[in-house]
Amino acid sequence: MDIVLKGRVAAVTGSTSGIGLGIATALARAGADVALNGFGKPEDIESARAQVAAHGGRVAYFPSDMSTPEGAAGFVADTIAELGACDILVNNAGIQHVEAVETFPPDKWDRIIAINLSSAFHTTRAVIPGMKARGWGRIINIASAHGLVASPFKSAYVAAKHGVVGLTKTVALELAETAITCNVVCPGFVLTPLVEGQIADQAKANSMSEEEVVKKVILASQPTHRFVGVDEVAAYVLFLASDFAANITGAAQTIDGGWTAR
Ligand code: NAD
Repeated sequence: MDIVLKGRVAAVTGSTSGIGLGIATALARAGADVALNGFGKPEDIESARAQVAAHGGRVAYFPSDMSTPEGAAGFVADTIAELGACDILVNNAGIQHVEAVETFPPDKWDRIIAINLSSAFHTTRAVIPGMKARGWGRIINIASAHGLVASPFKSAYVAAKHGVVGLTKTVALELAETAITCNVVCPGFVLTPLVEGQIADQAKANSMSEEEVVKKVILASQPTHRFVGVDEVAAYVLFLASDFAANITGAAQTIDGGWTAR
C-alpha cells in the first residue's frame, strides 16, 4: 500500500513541535507540500522547517495565532496564497492546563477552548470552499482519548476535545456527499513537550513525585503501559489523508493503548 500525496498541499496547525511536527513530516515524506504553524524559538522553528523540507516538497511557515478567529482563518488563507491550495487540513494545535474546576482560571478556560476547539471551527470553515472547488479534501482533527472520556483536573481540555469530536461528526455529515472527509484522531498519552509539562502539573495536583505520576497516573490509564509514539499518530493521519480512507468520515479513531476500551 503506497500512499502518495504528490500534488497535495497540507496545512498542519501547531506543527513546530511534538505530534504536529511528526504529522507534517509524514505528509511531506509522502510527497505533500506543507504549511507549518506554531510558536517556538527561531532555531527550533528553523530545525522543524528543515526536517520537513528534507523530503523535497515546498514548505511554508506561518506564525498564525490559533487563539484568535483571524489567526486560524488567516493560516488557511496564507497557505492558499503561498502554496496554491489547502487540500489536507490537520487541526492539531493544543494546550493544556491541569487544575481543579473550582479554582480553574477563567482566562485559561477561554484560551484552551479557543485554541483546542474554536480554531478548528475557524480553519474548517475557511478551507471548505477551496476543497469543494478542487473536488477533494481531508480534514483531520487531533482530539485525544479525552475527547471520549474524562479525567479529573482537565475540565477545559476535556470539554474542548469532546467538542472537537462533535464538530468532526457534524462537518462529516455536512460534507458526506462530497469527496471531502472529516475525521478525528484520539491519541492516548504521547511523550511530547505538552505531556512533559503535564507530568509536573499532575505531580503538584496529586502531591506525587514526577516518577509516580508517569507510573500511577499517566500510564495507568493505558492498559499497554506504553506511551503512544509520535510516528504512530503520524502514520494514522497519513492513512486518513490518503485515497484508501475515502469511505472513512465522521469517525473518532482511537490510538490509545486500550485506554478507552475499559
Ligand atoms: P506540543 O506542546 O508538543 O505542541 C503543540 C503545538 O501547538 C506547538 O507547535 C505549539 O507551538 C502550538 N501552539 C500552541 N499554542 C498555539 C497557538 N495559540 N497558535 C498556534 N500554535 C500554537 O503538544 P503535542 O503533545 O504535540 O500536542 C499536539 C496535539 O495533540 C494537541 O492538540 C494535544 O491536545 C493533542 N494530544 C496530545 C497528546 C499527548 O499525549 N501529547 C495526547 C492526545 C492528544
